[in-house]
Amino acid sequence: MKCPHCTVEINPDFEQFYLGEDVEGHFSIAFMTCPSPSCKKLILELRKGEPSFSISMHLTGVHNVIESSFVRPLRVNRPPVPKEVQELFAEDYNEACLVLPFSTKASAALSRRCLQNILREKAGVKKGDLSNEIQEVIDSGKLPTHLSESIDAIRHIGNFAAINGK
Ligand SMILES: [Zn+2]
Repeated sequence: MKCPHCTVEINPDFEQFYLGEDVEGHFSIAFMTCPSPSCKKLILELRKGEPSFSISMHLTGVHNVIESSFVRPLRVNRPPVPKEVQELFAEDYNEACLVLPFSTKASAALSRRCLQNILREKAGVKKGDLSNEIQEVIDSGKLPTHLSESIDAIRHIGNFAAINGK
Protein backbone atom coordinates (compact mmCIF):
# COMPACT_ATOMS: atom_id res chain seq x y z
CA MET A 1 0.00 0.00 0.00
CA LYS A 2 0.98 3.63 -0.33
CA CYS A 3 1.36 5.71 2.80
CA PRO A 4 -1.60 8.13 2.74
CA HIS A 5 0.69 10.87 4.13
CA CYS A 6 3.71 10.71 1.81
CA THR A 7 2.46 8.27 -0.92
CA VAL A 8 5.64 6.18 -0.59
CA GLU A 9 5.04 2.43 -1.09
CA ILE A 10 5.05 0.74 2.35
CA ASN A 11 4.40 -2.68 3.79
CA PRO A 12 1.04 -2.52 5.65
CA ASP A 13 1.86 -3.58 9.22
CA PHE A 14 -1.10 -2.42 11.30
CA GLU A 15 -1.87 -3.16 14.91
CA GLN A 16 -5.47 -2.89 16.12
CA PHE A 17 -7.47 -1.72 19.08
CA TYR A 18 -11.01 -3.02 19.39
CA LEU A 19 -13.39 -0.08 19.93
CA GLY A 20 -16.86 -1.59 20.36
CA GLU A 21 -20.02 -2.53 18.53
CA ASP A 22 -23.30 -0.94 17.54
CA VAL A 23 -26.30 -2.05 15.43
CA GLU A 24 -24.13 -1.98 12.27
CA GLY A 25 -21.21 -4.06 13.46
CA HIS A 26 -17.91 -4.17 15.31
CA PHE A 27 -15.33 -1.41 15.08
CA SER A 28 -11.60 -1.17 15.57
CA ILE A 29 -8.91 1.40 15.02
CA ALA A 30 -5.90 0.12 13.09
CA PHE A 31 -2.64 2.02 13.44
CA MET A 32 0.92 2.02 12.20
CA THR A 33 3.74 4.49 11.76
CA CYS A 34 5.00 5.11 8.24
CA PRO A 35 8.54 3.60 8.10
CA SER A 36 9.74 6.12 5.49
CA PRO A 37 12.51 8.18 7.21
CA SER A 38 11.22 11.47 5.77
CA CYS A 39 7.63 10.76 6.96
CA LYS A 40 7.36 8.72 10.19
CA LYS A 41 3.72 9.80 10.60
CA LEU A 42 1.06 7.78 12.37
CA ILE A 43 -1.59 6.30 10.06
CA LEU A 44 -5.00 5.66 11.65
CA GLU A 45 -7.74 3.63 9.97
CA LEU A 46 -11.23 3.03 11.34
CA ARG A 47 -12.48 -0.46 10.42
CA LYS A 48 -15.87 -2.18 10.58
CA GLY A 49 -16.03 -5.97 10.37
CA GLU A 50 -16.38 -9.18 12.34
CA PRO A 51 -14.84 -9.32 15.82
CA SER A 52 -11.42 -10.94 16.29
CA PHE A 53 -10.51 -12.69 19.53
CA SER A 54 -7.22 -13.55 21.20
CA ILE A 55 -6.54 -17.09 22.47
CA SER A 56 -7.78 -15.94 25.87
CA MET A 57 -11.02 -14.75 24.15
CA HIS A 58 -10.34 -11.03 24.49
CA LEU A 59 -11.57 -8.81 21.67
CA THR A 60 -8.49 -7.67 19.74
CA GLY A 61 -9.90 -5.98 16.64
CA VAL A 62 -11.94 -6.85 13.55
CA HIS A 63 -11.37 -9.02 10.47
CA ASN A 64 -13.36 -9.52 7.23
CA VAL A 65 -13.43 -5.74 7.01
CA ILE A 66 -16.50 -4.46 5.16
CA GLU A 67 -15.88 -0.75 5.61
CA SER A 68 -12.76 1.26 6.37
CA SER A 69 -11.67 4.86 6.21
CA PHE A 70 -8.56 6.73 7.14
CA VAL A 71 -9.06 9.10 10.04
CA ARG A 72 -5.44 10.29 9.91
CA PRO A 73 -4.82 11.63 7.41
CA LEU A 74 -8.37 12.35 6.23
CA ARG A 75 -7.02 13.20 2.79
CA VAL A 76 -6.20 10.05 0.83
CA ASN A 77 -4.31 9.02 -2.27
CA ARG A 78 -3.26 12.49 -3.32
CA PRO A 79 0.43 13.30 -3.36
CA PRO A 80 1.49 16.19 -1.13
CA VAL A 81 2.22 19.54 -2.75
CA PRO A 82 5.95 20.05 -3.40
CA LYS A 83 7.58 22.74 -1.27
CA GLU A 84 8.25 24.88 -4.37
CA VAL A 85 4.51 25.49 -4.93
CA GLN A 86 3.34 28.93 -3.77
CA GLU A 87 1.00 29.08 -0.79
CA LEU A 88 -1.75 30.67 -2.93
CA PHE A 89 -2.02 27.50 -5.05
CA ALA A 90 -1.08 24.94 -2.39
CA GLU A 91 -3.81 26.05 -0.01
CA ASP A 92 -6.66 25.47 -2.51
CA TYR A 93 -5.16 22.16 -3.66
CA ASN A 94 -4.80 20.86 -0.10
CA GLU A 95 -8.30 21.92 0.83
CA ALA A 96 -9.74 20.35 -2.36
CA CYS A 97 -8.09 17.04 -1.38
CA LEU A 98 -9.31 17.33 2.19
CA VAL A 99 -13.00 17.84 1.36
CA LEU A 100 -13.13 15.32 -1.51
CA PRO A 101 -14.42 12.38 0.60
CA PHE A 102 -17.24 14.59 1.93
CA SER A 103 -18.25 16.76 -1.01
CA THR A 104 -17.20 16.30 -4.62
CA LYS A 105 -18.85 19.63 -5.52
CA ALA A 106 -16.89 21.55 -2.88
CA SER A 107 -13.69 19.82 -4.00
CA ALA A 108 -14.41 20.65 -7.66
CA ALA A 109 -15.07 24.31 -6.79
CA LEU A 110 -11.73 24.58 -4.96
CA SER A 111 -9.89 22.75 -7.76
CA ARG A 112 -11.45 25.12 -10.28
CA ARG A 113 -10.32 28.16 -8.30
CA CYS A 114 -6.82 26.66 -7.97
CA LEU A 115 -6.58 26.13 -11.74
CA GLN A 116 -7.97 29.59 -12.50
CA ASN A 117 -5.41 31.19 -10.14
CA ILE A 118 -2.57 29.34 -11.85
CA LEU A 119 -3.81 30.39 -15.30
CA ARG A 120 -4.13 34.05 -14.26
CA GLU A 121 -1.03 34.38 -12.06
CA LYS A 122 1.40 32.16 -13.99
CA ALA A 123 0.15 32.08 -17.58
CA GLY A 124 -1.16 35.66 -17.48
CA VAL A 125 -4.46 34.92 -19.22
CA LYS A 126 -7.18 37.57 -19.48
CA LYS A 127 -9.93 37.15 -16.92
CA GLY A 128 -12.94 35.47 -18.48
CA ASP A 129 -14.76 32.21 -17.97
CA LEU A 130 -12.57 29.21 -17.27
CA SER A 131 -13.22 27.64 -20.67
CA ASN A 132 -11.92 30.73 -22.51
CA GLU A 133 -8.97 31.07 -20.16
CA ILE A 134 -7.98 27.45 -20.86
CA GLN A 135 -8.37 28.00 -24.61
CA GLU A 136 -6.15 31.09 -24.39
CA VAL A 137 -3.33 29.21 -22.67
CA ILE A 138 -3.60 26.28 -25.13
CA ASP A 139 -3.53 28.70 -28.10
CA SER A 140 -0.42 30.40 -26.68
CA GLY A 141 1.52 27.18 -27.44
CA LYS A 142 3.64 27.69 -24.31
CA LEU A 143 2.53 24.48 -22.58
CA PRO A 144 4.17 21.09 -23.14
CA THR A 145 1.86 18.71 -25.03
CA HIS A 146 0.94 16.55 -22.02
CA LEU A 147 -0.20 19.60 -20.02
CA SER A 148 -2.02 21.03 -23.00
CA GLU A 149 -3.93 17.76 -23.47
CA SER A 150 -4.73 17.43 -19.74
CA ILE A 151 -6.03 20.97 -19.44
CA ASP A 152 -8.12 20.53 -22.60
CA ALA A 153 -9.67 17.39 -21.06
CA ILE A 154 -10.54 19.40 -17.93
CA ARG A 155 -12.24 22.00 -20.13
CA HIS A 156 -14.35 19.33 -21.86
CA ILE A 157 -15.37 17.72 -18.55
CA GLY A 158 -16.08 21.15 -17.06
CA ASN A 159 -18.36 22.16 -19.93
CA PHE A 160 -20.13 18.81 -19.82
CA ALA A 161 -20.74 19.17 -16.07
CA ALA A 162 -21.99 22.76 -16.43
CA ILE A 163 -24.47 21.79 -19.17
CA ASN A 164 -25.82 18.85 -17.14
CA GLY A 165 -25.99 20.95 -13.99
CA LYS A 166 -28.53 23.33 -15.58
ZN1 LIG B 1 4.57 8.17 4.91
